[in-house]
Amino acid sequence: MDGGDGRGELDGLRGRLDEINAAVLRLLCERGRIVARVRDLKERSGAEMFNPAREREMLDALVAANEGPFPDAVVRHLFKEVFRASLAMMERSGVEALRVARGSGPEVVVRVGDRAIGGERPVLIAGPCAVEDEEQVRTVAHALAAMGVEFLRGGAFKPRTSPYAFQGLGEEGLRMLSEAGREAGLATVSEVVDTRTVEVVARYVDVLQVGSRNMANYELLKAVAVAGKPVLLKRGFAATLDEFLQAAEYLALAGNEQIVLCERGIRTFERETRYTLDLAAVPLLRRMSRLPVVVDASHAAGRRDILPALSRAAFAAGADGLMLEVHPRPEVARSDSQQQLDLPSFAALATELEPLRCRRYPAPCAGGGAP
Ligand code: PEP
Ligand code: MN
Repeated sequence: MDGGDGRGELDGLRGRLDEINAAVLRLLCERGRIVARVRDLKERSGAEMFNPAREREMLDALVAANEGPFPDAVVRHLFKEVFRASLAMMERSGVEALRVARGSGPEVVVRVGDRAIGGERPVLIAGPCAVEDEEQVRTVAHALAAMGVEFLRGGAFKPRTSPYAFQGLGEEGLRMLSEAGREAGLATVSEVVDTRTVEVVARYVDVLQVGSRNMANYELLKAVAVAGKPVLLKRGFAATLDEFLQAAEYLALAGNEQIVLCERGIRTFERETRYTLDLAAVPLLRRMSRLPVVVDASHAAGRRDILPALSRAAFAAGADGLMLEVHPRPEVARSDSQQQLDLPSFAALATELEPLRCRRYPAPCAGGGAP
């Protein structure tokens, strides 16, 4: 009974519209899944994603089948929007469509032997800014291993702002790093600055680092991707998160999904710190992507006094790991002397951080948008 005011009939029609909305959405989603399969086939064969002739044919067929009440122009417009959304997915425009996006596959856990980044326990990556000599790197490696560090870092090819500054020991430095890591039982990380030295760095170390200055060096990314090693990709200091993820996509597209994203500070007007650590990037990258996210507090701060606070904050923000520069005698370090921690300071910090490493924060829920 609708009491004669049409209420009952109106409710019925609204109910029917709700059902139709749900059915249209179901079909759109099914269409989207088919489009994704077409994209995969086209990507494999190198075919163009946009096929104007095919799109015209589909629109003409739809208009020919139009029974009203919508005018042909409206039918064209509605389907053109559906096609636009499909093409955006096919061309992977928009970070949501990337291979590295959350939801495009399982969460990535980067593995080196029995070490995992993105697993249950956040990791520590520590070591000197640059490998300087055998004794320095061995001293650090053994001390760090005893403090629960998993990864030993050390630059052998250094990207220095001044061409007159220490440029690293090259292959000799890589050999020292890899021997020290092997002796101490630590996995090793070192930076690759150039396509010509990818192979030699990959021969010595477990994880290839692409530095901030090279995040957008796409030829380097392609070369690093196929070297058969996990990649630690640092955020360009002037890169948006979207640009950062697009850079990671170069690695994934070349077949390497063993990628760790590293937030290392961005350039702002602030001068008390070398860069500004963008902590919001941590939960955002974990929400946007399926890659593990680590924080390099040392290069962000450019000073050692605030590293304990930034380190705690990184783990509280959900980082899967923390990178810190550690040197046996920071005061005489050949690079980044002001920001490297000495061994006792690092030991105290590692102990303080231990409770924060017992549990990995779950990724923030996807798609929540602004609160
Ligand atoms: C480094 O980690 O050694 C380094 C040079 O860092 P970034 O690329 O972040 O400046
Ligand atoms: Mn450094």
